[in-house]
Amino acid sequence: MERQEKQPPSQSYSETPVMWEDDAAYRRTLLQIILWVVAVLVSALSLSNLHHTDKTVSMMEAAIAIYCLVFLLRLQHTAKTTWWTSGLMLIVGSVIIYGMYSKGLYTDGFYWLLLMPPANMLLLGLVLGGIFTLCFGVLGVAVMVWAQPSIDGTLDTALLINASVSYLFLWAMSHIFEFKRAQMVQRLREIAARDPLTGLHNRLHLENIFQQIVKSHASEKQSFTLLLLDIDHFKHLNDENGHEAGDLILCQLSQRMTFHTRQSDWLFRVGGEEFCILLPTTRKAQAMELAERLRNDIQQLKPYFHKQTLQFTVSMGLAEWPLDGKDFDTLYRQADMRLYQAKARGRNQTVAGQ
Ligand code: GH3
Ligand code: MG
Ligand code: MG
Repeated sequence: MERQEKQPPSQSYSETPVMWEDDAAYRRTLLQIILWVVAVLVSALSLSNLHHTDKTVSMMEAAIAIYCLVFLLRLQHTAKTTWWTSGLMLIVGSVIIYGMYSKGLYTDGFYWLLLMPPANMLLLGLVLGGIFTLCFGVLGVAVMVWAQPSIDGTLDTALLINASVSYLFLWAMSHIFEFKRAQMVQRLREIAARDPLTGLHNRLHLENIFQQIVKSHASEKQSFTLLLLDIDHFKHLNDENGHEAGDLILCQLSQRMTFHTRQSDWLFRVGGEEFCILLPTTRKAQAMELAERLRNDIQQLKPYFHKQTLQFTVSMGLAEWPLDGKDFDTLYRQADMRLYQAKARGRNQTVAGQ
């Protein structure tokens, strides 16, 4: 049974090319702006609230300003931005609820609480942001409706409905915005990492995965192999049969490569008709067996195109980490040199050593 679509491998390598690696950078930038705004705003509010006899709110606002400034200092160095942000949202939310309850700012304070859904979604994402939004929404509405002294002692239903609906509406809008943003980033990541014709990873992804394999192998003292493959006389095939026939060959070759490799192997289209396979935990001897199986299979493969049978062969070069090179450039160059030896020796062959 032929495997058409390869599932993500079992190892926990990140499929994200380096340029997309730090999604947290987006939240860091947002945080930087928000922290400055909040720090300046609550400092002003703290000063303006100083004249009250009860200085609790003023002190709490000063505490938020200090928290924001410390967070700003730590922002570029800490890996725990989610913890810091959760702390910030917890303090800010608590101060708003406290202000609503203790100072009688029931409805005025609720305006501030309406900032919670967008801020939580932007800074903490759908799940954690959703939990914070739910908790502070329930608390805020409860404080505003039940703790507010009612004129005739009855529950103010209109206030309850208005407050809940406006809060839920903002939450829904922020949720959709964050959901779409995350979906778009994911889609862009896929586009950035995949070759559209063959569905294999592209070159952008290669060095990143190489580094991750090296990292996972360093402690285990294991080897792995880098295989470079190039279609022989592809220009001639294109010239003879047309560009579409060439594309068909590229797709069929990709499928055969997928078929002959394991779930844990990584396949890349690194150039027009050049491919690279990273074979984790595979030594050169085993990789050579795989390469020969693949080469023989391809030799017998006869794609049918416009009533014509196409035929093609491939040449391959192998290099083993760390034997043939410890860093990416050295290992790749070694495999490339061997690939060109295979070409020079007459093509349709694999070279793994001198
Ligand atoms: P060699 O055996 O030495 O590798 O020769 P070659 O003809 O395979 O190599 P060369 O580098 O001279 O030609 C590569 C050709 O690949 C040229 C280009 O038109 C073709 N090519 C590159 N990308 C694509 C593609 O996406 N589709 C098709 N059909 N052809 C492509
Ligand atoms: Mg070629
Ligand atoms: Mg080439």
